[in-house]
Amino acid sequence: MDCIFCKIIKGEIPSYTVYEDQIVKVFLDINPDTNGHLLIIPKKHCLGLAEIDDNTLLHVMKIARKMETLLKEKLKIDGLTLIQNNGSVQEVKHYHLHLKPHYNEKNVIKPVDEIYNMLIN
Ligand code: 5GP
Ligand code: ZN
Repeated sequence: MDCIFCKIIKGEIPSYTVYEDQIVKVFLDINPDTNGHLLIIPKKHCLGLAEIDDNTLLHVMKIARKMETLLKEKLKIDGLTLIQNNGSVQEVKHYHLHLKPHYNEKNVIKPVDEIYNMLIN
């Protein structure tokens, strides 16, 4: 199966990973809408909302909460939007939850490696 996110999980494609455990991986979106735009993906391949199992879905949301704390602490975000696309609006066909930070002040997009360093240090 030619899945880009499975390749990221296997380490065949590099990613700026900020968190991982046995069930999920969290990394920075390569084309961020805002600074700190994260993707949470299950390590076991599944398509979308209809396919992900309940336990994994709950774990994804728990990790989203943990990542919100990290983004507040490291990037001083003012708000956070969670989005998960399905069907025709889903570009990558491996379940992923977007975490998109908001900032009250105008926030110029910084290089992903710079944001990564802020998140892990
Ligand atoms: P979708 O429209 O499927 O919800 O969004 C897919 C997201 O995956 C997009 O925001 C896109 O920038 C991101 N993306 C696609 N390919 C890669 C990749 O190779 N690495 C990373 N880090 N993000 C990717
Ligand atoms: Zn996959």
